[in-house]
Amino acid sequence: MLRVAEHFERSDTGRQRRNNEDAYFARSPLFAVADGVGGAQAGEVASHMAVEVLEQGLPDDGGSVEARLGARVAEANARITELGRRDDRHAGMGTTLTVAYVGEHDLSVAHVGDSRLYRLRDGSFERLTDDHSLVEELVRSGKLTPQEADAHPQRSIVTRALGSEAGVEPDTRTWPARDGDVYLLCSDGLTSMVPEARVGDVVAAAGSLSSAGRKLIDAANDAGGRDNITVVLFRLEDVATGGSAAAQDTSEHTAVEPAAAAAEAPMAATAAHEAPAAPAARRSPRAPRRDRGAAGKRRRRLPRLPAGLVAVVVVLAIVLLGAYYASQTVYFVGTSNDGFVSVYRGLPYDLPGGLSLYRVNYESGVPVSGLPAAQKRIVTANKLRSKNDAEDLVRRMETGELASG
Ligand code: MG
Repeated sequence: MLRVAEHFERSDTGRQRRNNEDAYFARSPLFAVADGVGGAQAGEVASHMAVEVLEQGLPDDGGSVEARLGARVAEANARITELGRRDDRHAGMGTTLTVAYVGEHDLSVAHVGDSRLYRLRDGSFERLTDDHSLVEELVRSGKLTPQEADAHPQRSIVTRALGSEAGVEPDTRTWPARDGDVYLLCSDGLTSMVPEARVGDVVAAAGSLSSAGRKLIDAANDAGGRDNITVVLFRLEDVATGGSAAAQDTSEHTAVEPAAAAAEAPMAATAAHEAPAAPAARRSPRAPRRDRGAAGKRRRRLPRLPAGLVAVVVVLAIVLLGAYYASQTVYFVGTSNDGFVSVYRGLPYDLPGGLSLYRVNYESGVPVSGLPAAQKRIVTANKLRSKNDAEDLVRRMETGELASG
């Protein structure tokens, strides 16, 4: 079963722009990028409305994932179109929306406009979406070459967007997904500034998703930064082969949304997960040295490290990893950054260097400020609980059962 091992997301206004009309969503198993159009604040309103619709997850109507994604796209389109019709300041606003859903074994996408989804697998970087843009349609019909399209003055004109018409049709598709797949969602502020091949090289060569994401934004700004730049990156791991603590997490909501438990990988986990990626990233620059004999390499590789120090480092790493995974089997109830009662997975401690031993597992809609004093104390005590106990407690706060009983 697949889950999201880590993700990174960032939106940059772009060196030459003053406001940011892009928006993104990154809460496993849903990831999305939206790029608003409409000028002033209208584009920003449209893109944020599109991603806000995803807050509720996918409808639970038993339909296929693609149909459920399509339903959310339709809902976003209806809301944006309606506001555009009702309010002159928002007339004509629209947005692209590319949304991906990580299933147990595959990845599904619904897509409208010219934001893009890419996949890096086994070193090969591939675009999975077709732009709904004027130039790409001209390329598809043979009237422009891809090179001419890249330089075309009207390359940012989209031919399909949410809010521009009633009943917009998204492209929907599903691909089998694999352990180690890295996906990139981005707005055209990246791809109109940085050639696709270079984007792929940056993602493939980076040692971590955060480093890849930052480098992509820097590259777009260095090339001019004429548009808002948004990147959402996520990497999948198979919990059967990945051997992670998440394999234990097979209770109720993971059955519906397998990757949901992986939301917001903490820095500590990111560091642990980044380790496997590093050798791949380092492989190519060192490749020419391979013709040196293996024995020669070994002699050079460990010249002065005393065996004792190596043993201490290895033991320390095992102890820290063990402690981290152990901490991930406990839960507590606390307050989210926005002030809502939440279930956290892990221990209620921060380590030096900004590392947290916990992450949000579930955020309720119950504001802590509105709770009776006795319940506030429960929420601020951060007592360690089992998953069921923590979830049950929050459920009773949500239903008001705890107050009356
Ligand atoms: Mg744009």
